Amino acid sequence: IKIKIVDIPVPITIGPAFEGETIRKKDAYVEFGGGRSTSFELVRMCEADEVEDGKIQVIGPEIDEMPEGSVFPLGIMVDVYGRKMQEDFEGVLERRVHYFINYGEGLWHVAQRNMMWIRIGKNAHAAGFKIKDLGEILIAKYKSDYPAIIDRVQVTIITDQSVVEEKIKLAIEKYAARDARLKGLTDESVDTYYSCTLCQSFAPNHVCVVSPERVGLCGAVSWLDAKASNEITPTGPNQPIDKGECTDTVKGSWKNLNEFIYANSNRTVENVNFYTMMEDPMTSCGCFEAIMAILPMCNGIMITTREHSGDTPSGMTFSALAGTCGGGVQTPGFMGIGRRYLTSSKFIPADGGMARIVWMPKELKEYLGQDLIDAAEREGLGADFVNKIADETVGITEEEILPFLEEKQHPALKMDPMM
Ligand code: SF4
Ligand code: ZN
Repeated sequence: IKIKIVDIPVPITIGPAFEGETIRKKDAYVEFGGGRSTSFELVRMCEADEVEDGKIQVIGPEIDEMPEGSVFPLGIMVDVYGRKMQEDFEGVLERRVHYFINYGEGLWHVAQRNMMWIRIGKNAHAAGFKIKDLGEILIAKYKSDYPAIIDRVQVTIITDQSVVEEKIKLAIEKYAARDARLKGLTDESVDTYYSCTLCQSFAPNHVCVVSPERVGLCGAVSWLDAKASNEITPTGPNQPIDKGECTDTVKGSWKNLNEFIYANSNRTVENVNFYTMMEDPMTSCGCFEAIMAILPMCNGIMITTREHSGDTPSGMTFSALAGTCGGGVQTPGFMGIGRRYLTSSKFIPADGGMARIVWMPKELKEYLGQDLIDAAEREGLGADFVNKIADETVGITEEEILPFLEEKQHPALKMDPMM
């Protein structure tokens, strides 16, 4: 990716060197989102007269009114106007919020949409960083990186609980509309998948391959987003890959995809099977929304999320699991995924698909809601399947959840052994 140096009027240094910087809780002056408070980020395409170029508005308390160590709600709304702008580009531009904010020394951003999580470090606060400065960074970066599609940008940053609650509704509607545009598109209906190598700045050998039925593991790059991104920046991180000859229809392996991945992973990854997590699964960088892990005793798999800090039946928390399978390596039996991949009809089909899911946090069940029930019905598991999946209220070890699975006659118990 080409990084342009632009002069941004903020009291901290901005540059890709700070991208990998983490800010621990004890070093945070204030934090937002990440399940601790309501948060969202939204990029919207607007009409010319709706956008006042360069305008930054903060609704709610500024950083001076936030005590050290506090948690506040946060909404970031980026309104853009451009003659060449398209609605399809919104999601692509929205993902850039993550990168632009992480460029700031003393700033940390993870996840996306209404899951996003930001920390402002004590060092940034001491340097005089203000909430408003988030807007300065975003405006400068959008205008310098996307001059061909963005003519005007304004940013509204909301730290007031009631206004965040009100505006998040709009954001959730937008996210749903974007996801709906993907419905009906299947892996078979297209010849071209897209690569995403945005995360190579963190994980140099990592290549995501995004297909219509498999969102990028960060949850922020769908096939349509990758396609739009390629239209905006043809030489950028999202390249079309003509799948070519299918060498394994069950496990999901394609000649051209593998050649692309090998060439773009510094020649470290030779084969990726799209439809299984047990043999040559896709690599995981570090920004997966969720991680799947095999549970041998239950003959199934569990999933835990970044938001779930508790123990899981794999014997590991999310962060311990992230240490096992992150960094751009293939770890059979473990895989980072986007939350929405769970409801895909291409969810590890070679391993038995959705019927393998035996445990997930309650919050994830609620988050997926009706989509999970619909997916279970589509897979012939019945709407009741969701009630057969254990969660932390049932137990957090394999021994604790097995009797529950037996009592509910969970289908995984009757399937072929996973390994
Ligand atoms: Fe792209 Fe994958 Fe990183 Fe998401 S996780 S930004 S899809 S490389
Ligand atoms: Zn990543």
